[in-house]
Amino acid sequence: MARDRRRVRADRGGSVYLFCMRRRCERVHVRTFGHHASRGTVYHTRDTRSVATVATGARRPRARARARRRARARAAMPARESSGAPVAFPWLDATYAPVTFAPWTTDARRRAWVGVFRASAASFERRAALDEASGDGATARARAFARAFEAACARCEAGDEDAREACRGEASGGAWWAPWEGVNCLEMCRARDGILRRCGFADCFRGVKAAENATALRALAGALAATDGIEDDGERLLALVRGVFAGNIFDLGAASSADLYDTDGVDFASTVNGLKPRPWCVDDFDALRARFATKTHAKAIVFVDNAGADVCLGMIPFIRELLRRGTEVVVAANETPSINDVTALEMREQIIPALLEMGDSVLRDAIVGKRMRVVSSGSDMPVIDLRYLSAEACAEAETCDLLVLEGMGRGIETNLWAKFVKVDALKLGMVKHLEVAELLDGELYDCVCKFDVGR
Ligand code: MG
Repeated sequence: MARDRRRVRADRGGSVYLFCMRRRCERVHVRTFGHHASRGTVYHTRDTRSVATVATGARRPRARARARRRARARAAMPARESSGAPVAFPWLDATYAPVTFAPWTTDARRRAWVGVFRASAASFERRAALDEASGDGATARARAFARAFEAACARCEAGDEDAREACRGEASGGAWWAPWEGVNCLEMCRARDGILRRCGFADCFRGVKAAENATALRALAGALAATDGIEDDGERLLALVRGVFAGNIFDLGAASSADLYDTDGVDFASTVNGLKPRPWCVDDFDALRARFATKTHAKAIVFVDNAGADVCLGMIPFIRELLRRGTEVVVAANETPSINDVTALEMREQIIPALLEMGDSVLRDAIVGKRMRVVSSGSDMPVIDLRYLSAEACAEAETCDLLVLEGMGRGIETNLWAKFVKVDALKLGMVKHLEVAELLDGELYDCVCKFDVGR
């Protein structure tokens, strides 16, 4: 194979990377012997499919310091359970981009969106300061997070080059190889999570997630009984979808929900009763009901969102309905902790055992028979870029005919208008940012039920 040094790009620190465009999804295809390695980075080039091997220069002092900071951030992360390079979801449309409300081209729009992230910083700082399990000096480190994130917000407000440095600089610690598409929700989430990890907070919502899972699981039998009593299939589906919305309000990443949670807690039953009536700001429920009346999906991959009431009282009853209809269900949860999103490990260690213990025959038989199983999505963010998933999730997705994306981050802010080939796609979420509500011509705590039949 030909070597093509012209296609090699090296950053100031000596790292080498290139994006493979062989597939329409532009997935990154990088195989490296070590980021910031002194030599030997191998990757596929854009056009020639050649493999280039290059020797990078010696590290500069600033690069060494940056590498040390990245190493500290990585050390703070829990071990990964999925392996290998990220892989693209197999049924992406050629136009796929994980942005719903971008580009943020005007100053006003950028200020408004950065303001959304700024508003949540105080609740993150509060949670982080309480995270004694993260080590000594949690309060000081939480303050450092707040300062660093404010600086990142200011740079994101300022414009593209500054924003890129803020989101992809030393703070991000994550997808340094991903293509830059301008500052957007996904990039700001990346920056926020990266800064938290750099400050030593790998999972500062660990305690609240475990407590909420335990509380919600105790209420699950009652929630299942409530929907089981509805005989009409369409009405039961509506009740289950409304349950998903009600559960989705448990979101400590959104300032409005976090404040609500801190002051009142979240009561599931009263939340269901208080939901906005139809029509919702995005309302394809009639199409969903019609499709479910005529088609039984063979296999669904369901990307879940938050721990606690969201996954236990909102999504588990919905998943159980899919199982009852004869659909095999793969639950895809975050690989890496991010805010209060449930992780694949927590699904396996906290939720699945409790479902088995509960004795519900539909769930128990499905879990034992592996018709319901959990995979890591490979994601480390509260939003999701479907071009970068774990190999396990994509292998499961190859044979699915229904995709469910749940939550504001995954279903609304990054994938609301995303199109897919072959698979039916359902996006469910509650609107917890006023800016999102305005862009969808809705109101705060409006609901989104977007459904597209696969073509
Ligand atoms: Mg979430």
